[in-house]
Amino acid sequence: MAFDHRSFRQNLARLRDRIGSACEKCGRSPDSIDLMAVTKGFPLEVAATAVGAGLTTLGENRVQEGVAKIGEANFPANWELIGHLQSNKAQLAVKCFQRIQSVDSVKLAKRLNRMAAANRKKLPILLQVNTGEDPGKFGFRTEETEAVLHRLLGQNSLVVQGLMTIAPAPPELDSARQSFETLRRLRDRLEERLAIQLPELSMGMTFDLEPAIAAGSTCLRVGTGLFGPRPK
Ligand SMILES: *Cc1c(COP(=O)(O)O)cnc(C)c1O
Repeated sequence: MAFDHRSFRQNLARLRDRIGSACEKCGRSPDSIDLMAVTKGFPLEVAATAVGAGLTTLGENRVQEGVAKIGEANFPANWELIGHLQSNKAQLAVKCFQRIQSVDSVKLAKRLNRMAAANRKKLPILLQVNTGEDPGKFGFRTEETEAVLHRLLGQNSLVVQGLMTIAPAPPELDSARQSFETLRRLRDRLEERLAIQLPELSMGMTFDLEPAIAAGSTCLRVGTGLFGPRPK
């Protein structure tokens, strides 16, 4: 199936309208929110189209799929990992991705720190927190995040920029809103208690971007709302 460029442009316009109205309702500027194009499951051509339309942050949830696209891409973009990362792929992920949003264990974080140091780079990361307490999702428990962050403060090759969450299944706006507000409160508390800055709150996807914006999202991760259903 060839990619339909016209419906992509319509989807993008519709999405920008949704983001604009949600921002207006809570007095935020759309410029304070990055719209990540989630290209998992789609061919490289789709990523190229997104970048051509000005969406330069791309999200992949599988290391191998992402790395293959990054290797072939002949356009500049910020590729970020948003899916669970197995330790044995940490080295590859550090080399290829600009940021890892899905850091969900201290062991993984320490490994990423070692790999980043070996590559002489500072790796931006987010901590994934399972604020919706969904047993089917990865992420730290809300209550353990402060202790986790405390343990990571000495990992000098990591830059913890903030927190990420995925609303619990099944998709439901009220539970999404609650999980986003929990993430926002957790961030505020961590900043105060540890005297650090955690500017990034990655939350909100196609279905639940309005409550995410209201709760303070700085990164919306959108796939189907831009590109339609993912090919199987
Ligand atoms: C797939 C995915 C998205 C995008 O979801 P859509 O419903 O297609 O917008 C966002 N975040 C993560 C972590 C994902 O895996």
